Amino acid sequence: MIAVLMGYVTRFAPSPTGSLHIGWVRTALYCWLLAKQTNGQYKLRIEDTDLARSTKIYEQEILDSFRWFGLDWDAGPEKDDGMGPYYQMQRLEIYNKWVQQLIDQGDAYYAWETAEELEAMRELAAQNKQPFNYREQSYTPEQLACFVEEWRKPVIRCKVPVDQTITFVDWVKGETLFAMKQFGDFVIVKSDGVPTYYLANVVDDYLQGITYVIRWEEHLSNTPKQIVLYNALWFSLPEFAHLPLMLNPSGKKMSKRDTNIGLILVHQFREAWFLPEAILNFIAMIGWNPWTDKEFFTVDELIEHFSMERVQKANAVYDFKRALWFNSEYLKAMDNQQFIEKLIDYLYLYGDEHWKGIIESSDRDYWLQFAPYIKVRIQTFEQFKEYCDYFFLRKPVEQTLVNKEKMWVTNELVHGMLHACIHMLESLSDAQRTEETIKELLIDFIQTQWLKNGQVLWPLRAMLTWVEASPWAFEMLYLLWKEESLLRLKSYLNTLHTA
Ligand code: GLU
Repeated sequence: MIAVLMGYVTRFAPSPTGSLHIGWVRTALYCWLLAKQTNGQYKLRIEDTDLARSTKIYEQEILDSFRWFGLDWDAGPEKDDGMGPYYQMQRLEIYNKWVQQLIDQGDAYYAWETAEELEAMRELAAQNKQPFNYREQSYTPEQLACFVEEWRKPVIRCKVPVDQTITFVDWVKGETLFAMKQFGDFVIVKSDGVPTYYLANVVDDYLQGITYVIRWEEHLSNTPKQIVLYNALWFSLPEFAHLPLMLNPSGKKMSKRDTNIGLILVHQFREAWFLPEAILNFIAMIGWNPWTDKEFFTVDELIEHFSMERVQKANAVYDFKRALWFNSEYLKAMDNQQFIEKLIDYLYLYGDEHWKGIIESSDRDYWLQFAPYIKVRIQTFEQFKEYCDYFFLRKPVEQTLVNKEKMWVTNELVHGMLHACIHMLESLSDAQRTEETIKELLIDFIQTQWLKNGQVLWPLRAMLTWVEASPWAFEMLYLLWKEESLLRLKSYLNTLHTA
């Protein structure tokens, strides 16, 4: 418990080799919450040693995404605390020193095989039905001279203590054992002189004072190899927690190539202008059980309530519908003014000229008026952009939408009903402009005509908004009021006459 009193130092250490997805953010969030909760520190380290796959674009995307979520780092890129740099490619000299120590101690050595030779060794092992575990080879002075002449570049491997069993207690998995004889001597420096993940990650976690390593389950079997390095270098061990996988709905490990399960990349959520606080809430609940029925947590509440003990041991299943649900609940709870400001910002940024024109020519009071009716219906701002220009525009309406078969809506019925509604609307004075009055009049009409609600409310709504999901007819009549509503209804009536 001493570590808790001192505050955990956690870190998230992404490799900038792809777009940040929700699974990564969950790991980062848990690291961040634990650090905040214990008055510790959260660090961000860019593990960019995979030169072929790392890019500056992904790196920037990672930083921008964490800023968007408000997951600030106490140390990391652009924020050095004297233990940086926090980019691994800027730390090569530091790694060299520790690698040399391993070589000097006899815990690491140069290995000279080419890829083809390694493949041949692997095949031979397979023929003998043996697992292939690389062990130190001995080379004659002539062989070594030959390698140098051929310009071969050796790798450096760490010697695995084959007679040992490495044991550690993982916060999620419990006590975990690995017999080391199942592992070959692993590469710690590649032939281009760049260290591998095993080494750089251990050296950095130690030198940057990390006391708690939280990462995804994939790294569980790397941990014993890393513990070999910790031991060989006399580094104190951090605590470990390996989070269960995030699965796609078909039960497979989720990957950024899962394009048919809804949004999974953070930049997609940003571009659809989801609310970061809603998505953080959603992410926190994937695989963490607060042990109450409470589902909505502000960031401060998450800091207060989060606990590693309640991280579920079973794999979590990603459900994009939950993300939509969280976002819609957060939208509903927003104050109208704030909702409209954000919506307009979004439309300015992502809407086309059509939307910019609408924003410039419309009255903010009108936006505020319809805000309560629409914020309970959309799940994202993007949906507003796609479907809700009916608040501002008139468009031709398809008869197939109006004449809903299920409700026995026919042209004849619509014709009669429209005449009555137009008449009713024309006779209303401005003083009668309330949603309730309009609703009462419509319901009264429906009842006296022995109609069903849907036979009037549906076609009216379709004529006023031309989409499947929009506010009720009486709400739209109230919002658009007489002049605009009458224009829309009459223009539909005309299409019936000319048909
Ligand atoms: N760079 C590693 C990765 O992205 C970090 C793993 C770790 O947290 O140790 O998978």
